[in-house]
Amino acid sequence: MRSRGWEQLDVILVTGDAYIDAPQIGVALIGRVLERAGYRVGVIAQPDWNTDSDILRLGEPRLFWGVTAGSVDSMVANYTALQKPRRTDDYTPGGKNTRRPDRAGIAYSNLIRRFYKNTVPIVLGGLEASLRRVAHYDYWTDRIRRSILFDAKADILVYGMGERAILEIANLLNDGAAPDAVRGTCVISRTVPEDALILPAYDECAQDHTAFLRMFRLFYDNTDPVTARPLAQQHGDRWLLQHPPQPFETQEELDAVHALPFARDAHPIAKREGEIRALDTIQFSLQTHRGCYGECNFCAIAVHEGRRVRWRSEESILAEAAGFGKHPAFKGIIPDVGGPTANMYGYECEKKISKGACTDKRCVFPELCRQLPVDHSRYTDLLHRLRTLPGIRHVFVASGIRHDLVMDDTRCGMQFMEELVGHHVSGRLKLAPDHSDPAVLSLMGKGGTEALLDFRERFFTLSRRFGKRQFLSYYFIAAYPGSEERHMLALREFAAGELAVEPEQVQIFTPTPGTWASVMYHTGLDPFTGKPLSVERGLRGKRRQKEILAGRDGKTGSERSYATDVRHATGKIPGGISRSGKERTSGTRGQRKKK
Ligand code: SF4
Repeated sequence: MRSRGWEQLDVILVTGDAYIDAPQIGVALIGRVLERAGYRVGVIAQPDWNTDSDILRLGEPRLFWGVTAGSVDSMVANYTALQKPRRTDDYTPGGKNTRRPDRAGIAYSNLIRRFYKNTVPIVLGGLEASLRRVAHYDYWTDRIRRSILFDAKADILVYGMGERAILEIANLLNDGAAPDAVRGTCVISRTVPEDALILPAYDECAQDHTAFLRMFRLFYDNTDPVTARPLAQQHGDRWLLQHPPQPFETQEELDAVHALPFARDAHPIAKREGEIRALDTIQFSLQTHRGCYGECNFCAIAVHEGRRVRWRSEESILAEAAGFGKHPAFKGIIPDVGGPTANMYGYECEKKISKGACTDKRCVFPELCRQLPVDHSRYTDLLHRLRTLPGIRHVFVASGIRHDLVMDDTRCGMQFMEELVGHHVSGRLKLAPDHSDPAVLSLMGKGGTEALLDFRERFFTLSRRFGKRQFLSYYFIAAYPGSEERHMLALREFAAGELAVEPEQVQIFTPTPGTWASVMYHTGLDPFTGKPLSVERGLRGKRRQKEILAGRDGKTGSERSYATDVRHATGKIPGGISRSGKERTSGTRGQRKKK
């Protein structure tokens, strides 16, 4: 600030992660977008939440504070599925999990209010706020909590991908106007607009499972900006108002934000404090699109990013990759090219684009909708063009792949597999079948195992043809609602018999906010049929389900790092490729050796 001659910042962003200046990091993206609009922006990363030592550092902003827990819900970041504290944190220098408070959005808002009385508005954002924006099930207290906006005593909550909403808020405040009717935000109100859809009240949801289930259905069905109505939910004598989502970004907008001058590095102060593990996979990865229509019931992408896939132009992605060559740390390796689901790049349903996503059926479950024009040609072509750029040695795909979509693409699926298997697998390709039992898969919102087995066969046939010694690794979930020990035994047989593996990546299900699976876990009901479900709630039973598959020493996934729980909240398969091109796997060294 001193060197720029700034007396005061317009906006101060407070985040639970170490600061990494890259387009995949929400706080960096928001900061750069505000900066492009001419605002003076500062970031306080991982402040001490008990003292004033960090929060007073930059003074008070002129317009607003922006608060985020970071890239992951702070409770997922701080606790395993068995509710044990996590020791490690991929977004903290040195990797020790000591810098992020529980319920970080609330803790940081309280910190600001403690040291700045009557300050400018506090705007909550990021994944934690987005998924806790209405009454929600909280696994860590095993109860329904009210909207985080009430608990954090913040003024506005930005949900979903927040660039547009935050810019509108900044412009309104800059003009001296109240930002209380911005799309993509929630506010607290004493009155309800006439056109709002009334959700079952918080008290009702807290006491009655069917009311909570009804609420979630209405909430879920109002996430598409084309069709969504304003929502209102009573909390005591006040109302939580959710304005409809912002319209989806255009391709030009997506290209423009990725062209902003990101340093693609961690802040020097953070780097001096130790290695930030997340930087390895983020730094030179390419984000091709946003959104996912997979709608796995354990995933919150649909209510955070939306069911419509919006993708960047090939030119924008290629230009970004070509720019990596100027970075001193770039060694010619691009660890990932993808989005929430990598092979959804480049095609979408016309009906969804013009009239909004269907609420009475899904795009890929129980079978592929005929209106979805699955076509891997653009993604295949993109991967090919990337790997032939000057200065690029390897381009890998580490984002999740929907193997069923590859099999459904009778025209271009095989060509895609040839490109993928021949050039973009770093030794091991990760797939997420999640389970094999038809009943459990159906509760997950996923199809059967036929496509997986077909994909597997093609993968190994092509690997042999290309003379490559490479493998598939599979990601499974234990103790999912509806899953009993007998289902895990059947899964073990399937893995050993059909896949010929001892599963390495087995994760105990975590009921995270904003998902159908957490509704199932809390209510004990199948939300689509109303029938009762068997739900494993005991910690010992959960561990037992995992051990059936992973063995007693199976300290895989969630026991080691919260990265493996990220998928429940973000849909991303954890792990990835490091800058040096080495694959990062879950599982103990002993297990990997054995395999
Ligand atoms: S028509 Fe089919 S592909 Fe399109 S939104 Fe509806 S379910 Fe999805």
